[in-house]
Amino acid sequence: MTRMDGKALSEKVKARVRADAARLPRRPGLAVVLVGNDPASRVYVTSKRKDCEECGFYSEEYALLEETSQEQLLELVETLNRREDIDGILVQLPLPKHLNEQAVIEAIDPAKDVDGFHPVNAGNLLIGREGFLPCTPAGVMEMLEEYHIDPAGKRAVVIGRSNIVGKPMALLLLRRDATVTVCHSKTPDLAEVCRQADILVSAVGQVGLVTGDMVKEGAAVVDVAMNRNREGKLCGDVDFAAVAEKSAFLTPVPGGVGPMTRAVLMENTLLAAKRRQNLA
Ligand code: NAP
Repeated sequence: MTRMDGKALSEKVKARVRADAARLPRRPGLAVVLVGNDPASRVYVTSKRKDCEECGFYSEEYALLEETSQEQLLELVETLNRREDIDGILVQLPLPKHLNEQAVIEAIDPAKDVDGFHPVNAGNLLIGREGFLPCTPAGVMEMLEEYHIDPAGKRAVVIGRSNIVGKPMALLLLRRDATVTVCHSKTPDLAEVCRQADILVSAVGQVGLVTGDMVKEGAAVVDVAMNRNREGKLCGDVDFAAVAEKSAFLTPVPGGVGPMTRAVLMENTLLAAKRRQNLA
């Protein structure tokens, strides 16, 4: 079994982004907006700042109070939309309950939507036009490519149908000519469907969901999830030891999809900067 090393690949991607960004007349700029005190979100925002530093980007961070109103947040997004030096705007999700997440996503200029969550970018992905791809599924595609796993003609199964992972993942695999099945909480006999997969992507958030008997011999298995097990350790959906016995390729958690998600955010921000400087 080959362990797909997302950490190592993400370092390569970021080095490439850094070299490319250094050639631009103006360095890429990313604004990250955090509302409230969610500790996990705080960690993500800090790592994004670090990634920006590594890539030679300009970055700004807005840490807004939990009680920030919808109007205040939209006002900040509008200001960032107008800023020449800001190429990418990322509002860290989830937002506190009283805020309308979808309205905030839709307020971001699609040309600066480096998360790829705006309906314009989601629509562009659906119809196969250029836009910004959501970072996590795009990172998975880069990892498959790095390990020469060509989806064309393969059976791919995606577990999970969220707008940020499952659905765009399925569309990207379809774009690359896989025959794709999307599973979710109402799918009967999940194990039987998964056993047909040459490429199996799990994006659910349930420890131990994917067991060894659900995996076809020689499959490529990608574990998107980030869970905590009973000991509080970070883990995915996949029973790593059991699935490693069957699969040809497998991503670890941590060190798999997570770092690639971060690297694609840097790629998207670079792309936004290039497009806004008419260089792409
Ligand atoms: P989400 O919005 O909660 O979606 C979870 C999906 O899993 C839903 O479509 C749900 O089905 C499905 N599901 C739940 N229980 C299931 C079951 N027993 N069998 C089959 N499907 C089931 O989560 P998300 O935002 O897509 O994230 C998924 C996981 O990926 C989480 O662990 C998250 O932390 C992780 N994640 C990681 C990264 C990264 O960078 N590595 C990025 C984003 C997310 P229904 O639609 O029927 O409810």
